[in-house]
Formats: sequence, C-alpha cells, structure tokens
Amino acid sequence: MNIAQLLKAKGRAVTTARPDAKLLDIVTSLASKRIGAIVIVGENGELAGIISERDVIRALAKSSETVLEDSASKHMTREVVACQKSTTIDEMMELMTQGRFRHVPVIEEGALIGIISIGDVVKNHIAEVEMEVTAMRGYFATG
Ligand code: AMP
Repeated sequence: MNIAQLLKAKGRAVTTARPDAKLLDIVTSLASKRIGAIVIVGENGELAGIISERDVIRALAKSSETVLEDSASKHMTREVVACQKSTTIDEMMELMTQGRFRHVPVIEEGALIGIISIGDVVKNHIAEVEMEVTAMRGYFATG
C-alpha cells in the first residue's frame, strides 16, 4: 500500500493559507474544518511551511495579548517533511514517528497534491487488520 492508493480513498483536498494569514484565521479554519494542520503556501502555491494546532498552543502559551494578530509565518514550521505518491505506508509511519509530527503533505513535480494525517494512516491500518481477520475467519470456517 502506498500514498497514491491512500489519496484515492481520501481525496486530494488540502487546506492552505498564505504566510501572512493572521493566526486568528488559522485558528478559525482549524476549528471550522475540524482539522489539525494547515499547509502554508507561497504566491505560486509552493510549500512554504506548515502550522498545526500544536504551534497554535505554543504561540498561545507565550500569552502575548496580540498573538492572534501575528502572521502564520511567525509560528509555522518552515522545514517541512513532505512525501511522494510512491511513499509507502510503512515509510510514512517511520517519517511521522521519527519527526514526531502527525501531518505530511504530498508533493508531485513541485505541486501540493494532498496531505496525509496520522488519522488516515491509522484508519487504513484498521481496515487492513479487519480484512485479515475476515480472511482468517473464512479460512478457518472452510478449512
Ligand atoms: P503535528 O503533530 O502535525 O500537530 O505537528 C507537531 C509539530 O510538527 C508542529 O510544530 C508542526 O508545525 C510540525 N510539523 C507538522 N507536520 C510537519 C511536517 N510534515 N514536517 C515538519 N514539521 C511538521
């Protein structure tokens, strides 16, 4: 199983924002879309960073009164680890475990074509385990 197959199942929608978006807009978008991270893109759609609920919590913990007026660029992570369609689910789990993050954008020929969250990976894993269990049950019932 690879990311191309996972994207087919979940779709390619990615919520993005520009680096100058206000933190308040990021928070509003995270809440209304019930997602955990927003990919920050430059003028031409190029990957510029990622900002997740954890970054927002860290920003709030600094408790400056005007923090929600800050630009996303002030609080985003700039060194984004991305993957390709050919990345396997096992490689993805390794990336997330090693990097201690739960979101990975998918890039094809420089363009953003999707995002995988740890929830997508877990959902896929549960489906695979359920399929194995069903197959085993069939095997024992007929064997
Ligand atoms: P998350 O677990 O996705 O909420 O992110 C935890 C931290 O890692 C936050 O500081 C994010 O900005 C950062 N982060 C999330 N995804 C990535 C990624 N793909 N590459 C690099 N950093 C990331």
